Amino acid sequence: MTQIRLTNTRTRRKEDFVPIDPANVRLYLCGPTVYDRAHLGNARPVLVFDLLVRLLRHEYGDRAVTYVRNFTDVDDKINAEAQRRRAAGSDLSLEALIAERTEETIGWYHADMDALGALRPDHEPRATAYVGQMVAMTADLIAKGHAYEAEGHVLFDVRSFPDYGQLSGRSVDDMIAGARVEVAPFKRDPMDFVLWKPSSDDLPGWDSPWGRGRPGWHIECSAMSAALLGPHFDIHGGGIDLQFPHHENEIAQSCCAHPQAGFANVWLHNEMLQVEGKKMSKSLGNFFTVRDLLDRGVPGEVIRFVMLSTHYRKPMDWTETKAQEAEAVLRRWHGLVAGIEPATSPAPALIEALADDLNAAGAIAVLHDLAGREDAAGLLASARMLGLLLPGMGEWAQADGEAAGQIEALLAARLAARQARDFGRADAIRDGFAAAGVEVKDTAQGPEWSLAAGFNPARLADLARTHGT
Ligand SMILES: [Zn+2]
Repeated sequence: MTQIRLTNTRTRRKEDFVPIDPANVRLYLCGPTVYDRAHLGNARPVLVFDLLVRLLRHEYGDRAVTYVRNFTDVDDKINAEAQRRRAAGSDLSLEALIAERTEETIGWYHADMDALGALRPDHEPRATAYVGQMVAMTADLIAKGHAYEAEGHVLFDVRSFPDYGQLSGRSVDDMIAGARVEVAPFKRDPMDFVLWKPSSDDLPGWDSPWGRGRPGWHIECSAMSAALLGPHFDIHGGGIDLQFPHHENEIAQSCCAHPQAGFANVWLHNEMLQVEGKKMSKSLGNFFTVRDLLDRGVPGEVIRFVMLSTHYRKPMDWTETKAQEAEAVLRRWHGLVAGIEPATSPAPALIEALADDLNAAGAIAVLHDLAGREDAAGLLASARMLGLLLPGMGEWAQADGEAAGQIEALLAARLAARQARDFGRADAIRDGFAAAGVEVKDTAQGPEWSLAAGFNPARLADLARTHGT
């Protein structure tokens, strides 16, 4: 068994991963708020956790891992969209419109993450199904002296939890100085955060000891993780943007509600995503969703490859060039493994790379090495560990399996022509490649080819016929 090491944000160190129960390794990833399509940055934590789950299942067994990722379906943006639809003349009730919006967004989310080859979690709890647990946890926090009611709200008293700020390494006073905190007259301390807030009649609400209202965002994850994984589990993660305040607040709630349990042992945070060196933002015009890319014809497998090429703890830069390079590599690999059965296990070097704090870039280097040695069976088994070259995944590259055969035959014909000093024919093949959108580079190791964006399979087939290959 390979020792897995992970960088724990809580301790700021790379540590040996030791599960609480090796027969049931438990993980929680903060999931999306389901009001719109997932943007590309939202896919990053999903792919990091997907890789982690695949590695844990490889090490501890398929049935020894429980992976939970929630859907936040209580949110002002969802309400706003439902209210917009009602204002636009819909006959449905607000509740029905909210359910409609939530359902369609979850459907999109599943389709988009499936396209990236991300496994569905074992549990995908929706916040609205756990409001009872959130109310109970809130009442428990009041009873234990960590929360208080004020004007229909329930607030967490951050001064009652001395460890508050430990995850992000800030004191409460520093946070007050640096953060944009919502100042409300009923808060005892500006950093106190909402566990429960009142709902007006035109908003969804649930009955509670503090009147009709709805839960705050942070209590949702504390209640759902406790319900599905217990109060003490192995790994909790999300994007680094969730470290404060969301994860800090989850820790405060869960550790105060279950003081003996300890909550999550390991905190895993991925860095953010940029596009062509710039922060992705609607105002810069470089904001796009996973679906935008898929619709533009970028295969999900290519998106996955590019995302995994940068270590999760480094900022990831999405570029058009990277996507094109990944596409060319994957085309070649699909051609190489066509009709091949995978080896019985992935390459040990690949597992070692992944076990070292999910070094996916190192793992991809192992794949390049296997491909270079034309170890197709080893490449296939190893690539599948990364969720690449999966059955059914390479349909986009399938037409190219045939193309690969034609190109290799034409390259052989070109070589034969050159050796026979038939330069006219060699040049005709070269020009034919260019016209069909096949790029050929002659290197010391022999010719390397890739398919350009304007690749035309019919022209390539004509070229192959003309030259009798
Ligand atoms: Zn969360």
